Amino acid sequence: MRTAKQFLAVTDPEIYAVYTGERKRQEEGIELIASENIVHPAVLAALGSVLTNKYAEGYPHARYYGGCEVVDVAEDLARERAKKLFGCDHVNVQPHSGSQANMAVYFATLQAGDTILAMDLAHGGHLTHGSAVNFSGKLFNFVHYGVRKEDGRIDMDDVEKKAMEFRPKMIVCGASAYPREIDAEAFYGVAKKAGALLMFDIAHIAGLVAMKLHKDPVPWCDFVTTTTHKTLRGPRGGMVMCRAEHAKALDKMIFPGMQGGPLMHAIAAKAVSFKLALEPSFKDYQKQILINAKALADALTGYGFNLVSGGTDNHMMLLDLRNRGLTGKVMEHALNQAGLTVNKNAVPFDTEKPTITSGIRIGTPAVTTRGFGEPEMKRVAGWIERIAKDVENEGLRKAVKEEVRALCAEFPAYPDLE
Ligand SMILES: *Cc1c(COP(=O)(O)O)cnc(C)c1O
Repeated sequence: MRTAKQFLAVTDPEIYAVYTGERKRQEEGIELIASENIVHPAVLAALGSVLTNKYAEGYPHARYYGGCEVVDVAEDLARERAKKLFGCDHVNVQPHSGSQANMAVYFATLQAGDTILAMDLAHGGHLTHGSAVNFSGKLFNFVHYGVRKEDGRIDMDDVEKKAMEFRPKMIVCGASAYPREIDAEAFYGVAKKAGALLMFDIAHIAGLVAMKLHKDPVPWCDFVTTTTHKTLRGPRGGMVMCRAEHAKALDKMIFPGMQGGPLMHAIAAKAVSFKLALEPSFKDYQKQILINAKALADALTGYGFNLVSGGTDNHMMLLDLRNRGLTGKVMEHALNQAGLTVNKNAVPFDTEKPTITSGIRIGTPAVTTRGFGEPEMKRVAGWIERIAKDVENEGLRKAVKEEVRALCAEFPAYPDLE
């Protein structure tokens, strides 16, 4: 008898080397990409299982294939647990990704060419919120709001002004690179006044929302979409929650409208991660994400870094590097070589190209999963400062990388996994 991993090693040594190399990279480096996390081994087990073999087009107890009675249990559990976690009327756990979740909502409620008001990608929004290179921007007429230049915060007056001027059929809130709490109730007020549907894309902050560490958006929104792999710490995937009145249209759009067979291994893994999120320790985890983000933000501010909006209310921060004479591209590369993974990110009103940018985005979900606390966040800030001060110094990067590796060894990502 052999494990699945042993079969991989024998069958495809090249891909096995990718697996071992990536596992090593994750163990030995500090993951600060705000959209990433480290899933529980039980989530990995569900993902890498025979559940991937099953076709189950349709929904539980109403499938287009035989033999679905076992996997039906997984989807029922995923739905029940998601509803308990978020307190929503209805949920669909089949979207393959966050982008598919958003596509499903647009397609279920709007016609091509309809107007949608959403946050500008250049101010922290997402590609699926109307970028010209994305399906959303190609098929719908997006109008965008952004943040104020003075304080980097969403300008609700601008949102209202644009809503009344353009009369969108839908307003979208939620972001990929916005470090402050988003007020769903305020968006609801605007949507109601403008006669628009309201969708909140909580892809990044789902864990904080589920634990009510941000004000609960579910009562205010027609639709709440999310990924399951960011702060929620589940498998890569998407999910849509909605009011009961939209349930039928949503389900029909996801299948048969947009997707074929659901990924039952991923849905089972979603169920596992929701079970873990319903345990009391998950709230402690989400609280620690916030404490760590605040500690890192304070330490970086102390070193003279300029944080967009002056700080953070969530799991991420955006560093505007212009006062340090650095670009996002240069800093991302230098930090990566020092074992600290971040992504370059445009800052609001950025004048650099998207491939260069003036900023980096830093998040604390993954390091918090490893067990990092405030002392470790201070060390991370110290390394970022040392690299920023001497960004061309390759010897320094090597030295920092050794220190990073030593700290990571104290906080293994998978201490109990073979
Ligand atoms: C990450 C993200 C998505 C898309 O998720 P994918 O799974 O990468 O398709 C959608 N919306 C927001 C706000 C996100 O941050």
